[in-house]
Amino acid sequence: MRTPLVAGNWKMNGSRESVKELINGVVEGAKSLNGVEVAVCPSTIHIADVVAVTAGSNVAVGSQDACTELKGAFTGETSIDMIKDMGCQYAIIGHSERRTLYGESDEIVAEKFSVVKKSGVTPIFCIGETLEERESGITEEVCARQIDAVFTAEGDNAFEGSVIAYEPVWAIGTGKTASPEQAQSVHAFIRQHIAKRNADVAEKVQILYGGSMNPANAKELIGQTDIDGGLIGGASLKADDFMAVCQAGQ
Ligand code: PEP
Repeated sequence: MRTPLVAGNWKMNGSRESVKELINGVVEGAKSLNGVEVAVCPSTIHIADVVAVTAGSNVAVGSQDACTELKGAFTGETSIDMIKDMGCQYAIIGHSERRTLYGESDEIVAEKFSVVKKSGVTPIFCIGETLEERESGITEEVCARQIDAVFTAEGDNAFEGSVIAYEPVWAIGTGKTASPEQAQSVHAFIRQHIAKRNADVAEKVQILYGGSMNPANAKELIGQTDIDGGLIGGASLKADDFMAVCQAGQ
């Protein structure tokens, strides 16, 4: 049995004060959760404050990205060793905003996946199709291509100990959610695709859904056979909403 994971992606939001209030609310709410893992991914600048509050709690912390390089002259970047050193257990890699706004190719994302995995931090590897790709009927092809870039870099056991987030780009921040059937169908495809390389890893890997998941739709989505939790953007910025999604994962 896979334990569901609900992870909040706070993106570039919050002040020191609002982030402290939010993480205190999450830590408090998480105390009564059972059978669901919880993580939050603040902006890099807020990681230290968040880790200080989550210490000793059942809330893990992750970064929203990591550099392909480990150290040196890369102005503005943050290495996975630094992220790990700050107390993070997860790193989101290949979010569609990184892919589209910052030009991260499948190969760059795969390189990032490799450095994160090697560090011992768990990658939350994001994949998903645009609206145009869905309407052209190539959703599975796109997901397979994004996954295969990681297999090429890391081999058949690539996804052992990692997390995958299926996030249809057209559903991120738009209020449009994939229906539970649409999401389940892609999640099942992803698991089968991984099973072609390693059936054991495919059975164990947590595959999260992301894209306008909220307290109203979380239970039905997470209730699908191959949906093992959620990566939550907008609804993770309010502790009550985020906790409601976490409760749906129990
Ligand atoms: C995301 O950006 O990972 C995400 C799922 O955002 P939202 O929940 O706001 O659609």
